[in-house]
Amino acid sequence: MVTKEQILQWLQQFASAIAQNKEYLTQLDAAIGDADHGINMDRGFQKVANQLSNFAAQDISSILKSVSMTLISSVGGASGPLYGSFFLRASTAVIGKQELSNEDMVSLLQAGLDGVLQRGKAQLSDKTMIDALSPAVTTFTQIIREGKTTTEAIQQATVAAEQGMKATIPMVAKKGRASYLGDRSINRQDPGATSVYLMIQSLSEVLV
Ligand code: ADP
Ligand code: MG
Ligand code: MG
Repeated sequence: MVTKEQILQWLQQFASAIAQNKEYLTQLDAAIGDADHGINMDRGFQKVANQLSNFAAQDISSILKSVSMTLISSVGGASGPLYGSFFLRASTAVIGKQELSNEDMVSLLQAGLDGVLQRGKAQLSDKTMIDALSPAVTTFTQIIREGKTTTEAIQQATVAAEQGMKATIPMVAKKGRASYLGDRSINRQDPGATSVYLMIQSLSEVLV
C-alpha cells in the first residue's frame, strides 16, 4: 500500500529534483525552446513544496488536486497546464482512498497520462513529455499485472522513462515551441520528457 505520507514525500522529492536540475532543464529548453522550462517548473514546485504542510491534513485525492491548482496558477507556459492536467486527473482516479493499492497506483498514473494526452494532443514520438510518461505508465501497469510489487514496478517504470527521455534526442518535434524548429530540433533531448523522468524517478526513490 502507498500511504499519504509517501505521496507527500514524492511531491517533496520531485520539488527537490526540479530545484537541483533547474539550470539543466532550462539549458535543454534554451536549445529548442525559450529557455524557461527549469524556471517554470521550479516556480511551481517550490510553491507546492511550501504548501505541503498545509496540504497534509487533506486526503490523497485532495492533495493531488491542490497540487494541480497550484501548478495551473503559478507555472506559465505549456508545462503548467500539462502538469496541472496530470495531477488533476490523477486526483480524480483516487477519490475517497486513504491508501493506494497497486491497482490504485495504476489508475492514478494512467489517469494522469490520459490528462496530459487530452490536454496536449501529443502522440508518441512527437518529442514531448509523453515520450517519457507513456512508456513509464505502460511499464508500471504491465509489471503490476504480472503480480510484482509496487517497488519493482516503479523501478522498471523509471528505466522506461529514462529510455523514453533519451529516445527524444533523434526525434523531430511535432508539438510545442520546439516544433517551430522542424528538423533543427533533432539531436536535442526534450526538456519536458526530462522533467517527467525526474518525476518518475522521485516516486521510485520514495517507494523503495
Ligand atoms: P513553453 O514551451 O511554453 O515555454 P515549457 O518550456 O515549460 O513551456 O515546457 C516545454 C515542454 O512542454 C516541452 O519540452 C514538451 O515536453 C512539453 N510540451 C509542449 N507541448 C506539449 C504538448 N502539446 N503535449 C505534451 N507535452 C508538450
Ligand atoms: Mg519553454
Ligand atoms: Mg515559455
